[in-house]
Amino acid sequence: MPRLRSLPLLLICLLLVALSGFSAYRIAQRLGIADLQATGLHRLDLYATSLEREISKYAFLPGTLSLEPEVLDLLAGSAGDNARVNNYLEKLNERAGTLAIYVIDTRGKVLATSNWRRPDSFLGEDLSFRPYFREALESGNGRFFGIGTTRGEPGYYLASSLTGDSGTLGVAVIKVSLEQLEKSWTTVEAPVLVADENGVVILSAVANWKFTTLRPLDDSTRAAFDHTQQYNRRALQPLGIQKIEDYDHGARLVRIAASGPETVSVYPVTGRFLEQSRTLPGTPWTLTVLSHLEQVDDLAQSRAALAAIAAACLCLFGIILNERRRHLRDRLAAREALQKAHDELERKVEERTADLSAANQQLQDEVGERIRAERTLRAAQDELVQAGKLAVIGQLSTGIAHELNQPLAALRTLSANAERFLERGDTETTRTNLGRIADLVDRMGRITGQLRNFARKSSGQSAPVALCHALDNALALLDTRIRRAGAEIERSCPVEEPVAMCDANRLEQVLINLIGNALDAMADQTRPQLELRWECTDSLVRLSVRDHGPGLSDEAQARLFEPFFTTKPAGDGLGLGLAISAGIIGDFGGSLYGANHPDGGAVFTLELPLAPTP
Ligand code: ADP
Repeated sequence: MPRLRSLPLLLICLLLVALSGFSAYRIAQRLGIADLQATGLHRLDLYATSLEREISKYAFLPGTLSLEPEVLDLLAGSAGDNARVNNYLEKLNERAGTLAIYVIDTRGKVLATSNWRRPDSFLGEDLSFRPYFREALESGNGRFFGIGTTRGEPGYYLASSLTGDSGTLGVAVIKVSLEQLEKSWTTVEAPVLVADENGVVILSAVANWKFTTLRPLDDSTRAAFDHTQQYNRRALQPLGIQKIEDYDHGARLVRIAASGPETVSVYPVTGRFLEQSRTLPGTPWTLTVLSHLEQVDDLAQSRAALAAIAAACLCLFGIILNERRRHLRDRLAAREALQKAHDELERKVEERTADLSAANQQLQDEVGERIRAERTLRAAQDELVQAGKLAVIGQLSTGIAHELNQPLAALRTLSANAERFLERGDTETTRTNLGRIADLVDRMGRITGQLRNFARKSSGQSAPVALCHALDNALALLDTRIRRAGAEIERSCPVEEPVAMCDANRLEQVLINLIGNALDAMADQTRPQLELRWECTDSLVRLSVRDHGPGLSDEAQARLFEPFFTTKPAGDGLGLGLAISAGIIGDFGGSLYGANHPDGGAVFTLELPLAPTP
C-alpha cells in the first residue's frame, strides 16, 4: 500500500523535475538568445564598419580620374589615341589593387581600360546596359555588384561621372574584387553574408553560400538579370533559410538545412541560427550575421540538467521530509493509541479494583457472618455438649443412686450400731464402725466428685492430656454400669503413656459415649466383652473401641454422625452422642470413625495428634 500511496507523489515529482528542466531550458535559451542578439548586433556593427571602410577606400578613386586631363581629353574626343590613358589606368589599377579601372563615354562605350593588354579586355565594349553606368550618368555615382561579362569574375563596381567644361564627358569605373572585400572577414566568428538588393548573396564567409538567394526570385526578376547579365547567368539556388520565430529588432530564429557538398568551416553552417541583418549605408545591400544556437542550446541543456537535478534533489528532500513527517505522525498516533490503551487499562484496573474491594468487602462481611455463625454454632455445640453430658448423667443417675444408696444404708446401719456399741461401752467396735463409716463417706465423695467433674462446663482450653488416665476416669464413671452388665474389659496401655493436646473433660465425655454405646450394643449378652486398645504412630495415637455386639446396620453406618440419629427406644437415646463426639475430636485436630469388625461387632476408632514431646 505505501507504494501505491507514494505513486502520485512520485508522478508529481517527475512532473516537477520535467517542468523545472523545461523552464530552465527555455529561460536559459531566452537569455542565451538575448546574449547572442547583443553579440550579433555588435558583430553586425563591426562587419559593417569594416566593409564600409573597405568600400570607401575605393569610393573616391573613380572621381579622381576627372583630375587627369588625358582622360578628359579622351572622353571629349580630343585625344589622338587612348594608349596613354590605357597605360595610366593599368598602372593605377596595379597601385590601387583593384580588378579593373576603365572609362566609358556617354554612349556607354569603353574608351580606355586597365586590362587593355588582355585578350578578354573590354576595351571598346558597350556597357551602356550596366546599371552603374546609367546611375552615374543620372546621379553622378553608381554602385553595382555584378559578375563580369567577359571573365565572369564577380566584383563590385564603383562608378563616377566625369565632367569637363562642357558637362558630363563620361563615366569612370573601378571594379573591386570580392575577395578584397572578403579579406576583412577573415577573422569572423560566425557566418556572415551580404545580400544585394535582389536578395542574392554576393559576399559570404561561407564559400558555398555565394550566389544563393535569400528569397525566391520570380521569373521577371530572373529575366531582368539576363538582360543586365548581373550574375552572368549563374544558377542562383536558394540558400534554404527557414524562419522559425521572430524576435525584437528584426532578429529571427532560422534554420538552415544542409544542402550540397559539405562545407569545411570553423563554425557550424547548418542548424538553427539567430539571423540579424542591417542595410549597409550607401549601398542597397544587407549585411546578415548568423549566430549559431549550438552554444546557447548546449548551455540551455546544461542549465536544464542542473535545474532538473536541483528539482530532483528538492523533491527527494521533500519526500524525505514528508516521510519523516509521516513517520512522526504515525509514531504520534501509535503513542496516542498506546496512551489510550493505557488509560483504558487503568480504567479497567480501577474498575476491577473497585469490584475487588467490593468483593473483598463482601467476603469480609461473609467471613464475619461465618465467624458469627461459627460462634453461634460453637455456642450451640457447647450447649449440646452440655446437654449430652446431662443426658449421660441422666443415664448414669440410676446406677449412681444405687451406688449411693448402698453406702447410705450401710451408714445408717453402722451409725445405729455405733450408738448401741457406745451405750454398751464397746468402744473398740464403735471405732471400727466409725472407721468403716469414714471409708463409705470417702467412697461417696469420690463418686459425687467424679460426677461434679464430669458435669462442669469445660474451659475449652487445650492442654496436654495423659490419655490412659483419661480412659481410667471414663471407666470409673461407668464402673457401676460395667459391673452390672458383667462386662469384661480388655484394655492395653503403651509403656510410655501417650499424651495429646486436648481438653480432658471433653475427651472423657467422648470415651464414656463410645464405651456406653458398646455396652448398650451388648446389652443382651450375658458376658459382654469390650476391647480397648491404644496404638501409637510417629505423629498420632489411635484408640480402638471394639465390642462384640451386632455391629452397625447399613443405615447406622450411613447416618452414624448425624445429629438425632438413634436406633434406641425413646428416653434411652437422643442420637447426639456420636455427633457431639465427632465434633469434639474434630476440634482437637483428630478424627473419629466407626466400622464393623470382620469377626463381628462394631469397632470405633479415635485418632488424635500426639502432643509434641517437651
Ligand atoms: P444414642 O446412643 O443416643 O442413640 P449415638 O449418637 O451415641 O446416640 O448413637 C447413634 C446410634 O448409633 C445408636 O442409636 C446405634 O444405633 C448406633 N451405634 C452406636 N454405637 C454402636 C455400637 N457399638 N454397636 C452398634 N450400633 C451402635
